[in-house]
Amino acid sequence: MVLPQSCVNNGGQASLIRLDHVPQLDQEAPLSEKALRALGLWQARAGEVVTVIDEQMTSYLARLTSLEEGSASCVPFQRLRTPVESPIQIEVYLSLPDEEGFEQVLQKLTELGVNRIVPIKSECSATQEVRVARQEKSHCWLEVIRKASRQCRRAMLPEFLEVHSFTEALSCAATKELKLMLHEGDTTWSLTEGFGSFKPQSVALMVGPEGGFLDNEVEQAQAEGVLPVSLGPRFLRTETAAIVAAALVQSYLGDLG
Ligand code: SAM
Repeated sequence: MVLPQSCVNNGGQASLIRLDHVPQLDQEAPLSEKALRALGLWQARAGEVVTVIDEQMTSYLARLTSLEEGSASCVPFQRLRTPVESPIQIEVYLSLPDEEGFEQVLQKLTELGVNRIVPIKSECSATQEVRVARQEKSHCWLEVIRKASRQCRRAMLPEFLEVHSFTEALSCAATKELKLMLHEGDTTWSLTEGFGSFKPQSVALMVGPEGGFLDNEVEQAQAEGVLPVSLGPRFLRTETAAIVAAALVQSYLGDLG
């Protein structure tokens, strides 16, 4: 089995800013060393508003009142009625597009509450090297994710993984309860029919490059339990397909809408 490669931004649980007690609103709360490390991942600054969670997983908006080496504190000022993080885990395996637009997808997927984004190299996709050569901005992907997470007040940064090969992506997605491949071929199922009455807690979405997934890739994925699904009769750009599919999954199974 091919092992999934590492997360490059320490997103996920490590980025949660946890309080180790239930706070009183408008009262200063000290932050633990672990929370301090999480703040480092967000590149947070004193005075900034962040989303923190307490030991019962309730989310609060809090202002960072001090942030120094070795110590930090915040004042939680608003308890949020619903958790900021989605109740379902959504992972998007995104073929690298060769044009502009990747940053925008990263931003939108982050806003939509996706947990993990994995760029993949499929047979027709651009390579990381080509993208880096063509696009100066590719070095700022992590910054795009961080900024989007801050802007939409997420409690955790989505994990951003290294570029995976198609086969590595399939093994990485293997543990998800529902695995869907967006494919505009002769697919019998629409994305929403793909859910059926099933209410999975974790969903992997595979999105193809501008040239689409090749038949052998679709067959390989199907053999690994991935269901090819359609988003309707129009051919969408890779970026559009990724954003639309994540929004539909979040709307049907998660907390969007
Ligand atoms: N295969 C096409 C071709 O011949 O040029 C177009 C690929 S499309 C531009 C890029 C990717 O977005 C596809 O591989 C698929 O993952 C997704 N996609 C776009 N439109 C879709 C649709 N209507 N249904 C399902 N997936 C779609």
